[in-house]
Amino acid sequence: GIKQPVLSLEDVNVHYGAIWALKGVNLTVGEGEIISLIGANGAGKTTTLRAISGIVRATSGRITFRGEDITRMAAHDIVKRGIAQVPEGRRVFANLTVIENLEMGAYIRNDKQGIKEDLERVLERFPRLKERRNQIAGTLSGGEQQMLAIGRALMTRPSLMLLDEPSMGLAPLLVKEIFAIIEEINREGTTILLVEQNARMALQIAERAYVLETGRIVLEGPAKELSRREEVKKAYLGG
Ligand code: ATP
Repeated sequence: GIKQPVLSLEDVNVHYGAIWALKGVNLTVGEGEIISLIGANGAGKTTTLRAISGIVRATSGRITFRGEDITRMAAHDIVKRGIAQVPEGRRVFANLTVIENLEMGAYIRNDKQGIKEDLERVLERFPRLKERRNQIAGTLSGGEQQMLAIGRALMTRPSLMLLDEPSMGLAPLLVKEIFAIIEEINREGTTILLVEQNARMALQIAERAYVLETGRIVLEGPAKELSRREEVKKAYLGG
């Protein structure tokens, strides 16, 4: 069965003007799980993450995190509750150094000592960032920028991490490395909701998964089961 739900979306609708981007989405994430959300371009995956993190507003429905209704909560208050989003396209602050980017991740905190410790911990986890701690982020490679974006999210000490297409534009070896990092972060106690176009990797890493098509969840279940289904193979796993 599903573990104690940490996050739940109930009948969530999102409109961008005339565009109905999410159509009654129901989704739960259990404590400690890795959940993948897959779907084609424009299916509404990013919108789902943005609705959770409070960047876009649900027009109706309910989003609950650890028993609290966060549907209409301000984005910075949602971060304070322990939800961190790693945005699509690894938007790091291009003109700031690695260290400065990580410090920006801790903007909601004021425990200097804790921030310092977490900064060291993130640098230990990402030796490549440690070597480049004073490098300007805009000059990092794509994979390094993705690590920095994940590191910056870790600086908020999240209990739930939302990742938006972390594999995008990365070479296969780096994709493997990023996914291994995600698994490691999960093993250390962070619950993960992962949005991916790389359905193969996303289904490999997840316990359960959801398939989104034009704003609706059309399939859900244990990731292993989904990856064996013909319609999933055909549409998302290249036959
Ligand atoms: P991709 O994999 O291409 O990033 P996605 O599954 O993440 O796609 P969304 O970015 O959530 O999809 O977009 C869902 C729908 O909402 C699309 O039709 C998109 O054009 C539309 N949309 C997204 N953001 C906006 C916006 N700010 N204004 C208007 N329409 C938007």
